[in-house]
Amino acid sequence: MVVVRREGLYCVPGDFYIDPWRPVDRAVITHGHGDHARVGHGHYLAAAPGVGILRSRLGDITVQGLAYGETVEHNGVRISLHPAGHVLGSAQVRMECGGEVWVASGDYKVEADATCAPFEPLRCHTFITESTFGLPIYRWEPQQQTFDDMNAWWRRNAEQGRASLMLSYAFGKAQRILSGLDPTIGPIVCHGAVEPLNRVYREAGVALPPTRMVSEVDKADLKSAIIIAPPSAGGSPWVRRFGDFSDAFASGWMLLRGARRRRGVDRGFVLSDHADWPGLMAAIKGTGAERVVVTHGSIPIMVRWLCQNGYDAKGFDTEYGDDEAEEAAAGEEGAAPAAAPEPHPDAKRWVVPEKADAARAAGTGDRPAGMEEDGDA
Ligand SMILES: [Zn+2]
Ligand SMILES: [Zn+2]
Repeated sequence: MVVVRREGLYCVPGDFYIDPWRPVDRAVITHGHGDHARVGHGHYLAAAPGVGILRSRLGDITVQGLAYGETVEHNGVRISLHPAGHVLGSAQVRMECGGEVWVASGDYKVEADATCAPFEPLRCHTFITESTFGLPIYRWEPQQQTFDDMNAWWRRNAEQGRASLMLSYAFGKAQRILSGLDPTIGPIVCHGAVEPLNRVYREAGVALPPTRMVSEVDKADLKSAIIIAPPSAGGSPWVRRFGDFSDAFASGWMLLRGARRRRGVDRGFVLSDHADWPGLMAAIKGTGAERVVVTHGSIPIMVRWLCQNGYDAKGFDTEYGDDEAEEAAAGEEGAAPAAAPEPHPDAKRWVVPEKADAARAAGTGDRPAGMEEDGDA
């Protein structure tokens, strides 16, 4: 049902793409990270909680938001989006056609995350899985342990009159860190690339502690502050204003001593928005799938392991990157993503034209036919 084309993952009967890396007419987007959500597509379909993120990052796009679990039918393929537990609005794409079910999971994690809906296990015949941390050495500690370590580091710095600079990916990771911080330790300051995303999270109903821009905090107060900034801010002139500070980087890669050393930061906190090895295995098992397609990460190792364990497994070469290591795109001081525009007036809905006509005739307004609740979900 799904193949790789030059443009991206392609659903053959449905004639649409999933997270395409080249411009196409119809794109189902799993989440707003730059390697999955790109500009230039004709029509976007995404989980409703992620639409604000897409608009803030991609500007004026024609996008339809679909509630988690809701179904839309396109060229005979029933499409529904289900939480992937990765970042706000992240979705697994469930495709059903002629009794065959495929699930493309995008990026996912199975661990709980206070800033997004939890990963939903879906039964399917074929499961497309990422493999960013697809090696048995990758095992995360419970996140509360990591948050406790972060707060202890911040508290000690504050006691010694030193600012704490936490470098992390601006979308997703930064908000997850915020959700785990203890605001009684000191002020929480966010870089200009992080704060607009906090706003989108809060608008989506995610509780985050109060945050301030650096310009709103007295220089004296910065000594007890934690500053959340994208990796590109580390070592830039922007950080000089903090005087004496300790820096840290939060990523799954911080499990590796070499990665910590290359970052050249005082502390590495192991915190990932991707499943670790046990998480990947549990997710795959939970689908009941007999066929598994492995994308971005440790493809050969995971494919070999899955084949040895009775799965029909193969890899897909994609152009998805590594959002755990990537530098945030909007790294400039104060750079804010484009303001969210109003929806395009003639936004075409994700229904076959006859159905759209039928919906209009039936007076169902802009809620198209084919968006009925998925009875068997
Ligand atoms: Zn991602
Ligand atoms: Zn990714």
